[in-house]
Amino acid sequence: MVEVWWAGVGEARPEFERDLDRVERERLAAYVREVDQARFLLGVTIVRQVLAARFSLPAAKIMLDRTCSECGKPHGKVRAVGLPVELSVTHSGQLVGVAVADRPVGLDVERVDPELDVDGVARVALSADEVRALHGHSGIEKARAFTTYWTRREAVVKATGVGLRGKLRADVPAGIQVRELDVGDDHRAALAVVTAEPPAVRTLRFGSDLRR
Ligand SMILES: [Zn+2]
Repeated sequence: MVEVWWAGVGEARPEFERDLDRVERERLAAYVREVDQARFLLGVTIVRQVLAARFSLPAAKIMLDRTCSECGKPHGKVRAVGLPVELSVTHSGQLVGVAVADRPVGLDVERVDPELDVDGVARVALSADEVRALHGHSGIEKARAFTTYWTRREAVVKATGVGLRGKLRADVPAGIQVRELDVGDDHRAALAVVTAEPPAVRTLRFGSDLRR
């Protein structure tokens, strides 16, 4: 079972800062734009509060580690120290999402950018089949289709931890399930799970479904 939690960026509250650790406070302060602060704060808070409820712990006791496996800086995939759970956090545009699972998981949301030079980016980023499929779309539909492919790629990268560097156009590897999630017209989202069978996915709202 994979839980996917969503919140709107407007749901961030100053009191959420209470439960941040030192590294998180520094990172929050480093964001220049208020919207970036709100997205980060919400992502951290959803993770803490969902895990606090799941494991019956105070939110401030949930220790999160983001040590990058390549350079050691705290910008890697988030892990909950000592808890048997896999996480993936994503934010873009108006949405913040968190996936919680019992196996490696990747969640990606992207705002659909109507100004995007889809053909230019697609040639570099997508497989030949995907580029061909894009030709069937125009205007905002084309941007949506491209963004769908893009979120699928990003979700796989986040689930496997393997950057598709140099093989961005590779297909989804065996043993990974990818599913598109409906998040409305303005965003696209995808979930990747390292598992042989299609996973059960439960979609929840941070604002209304979390028992606090
Ligand atoms: Zn790094």
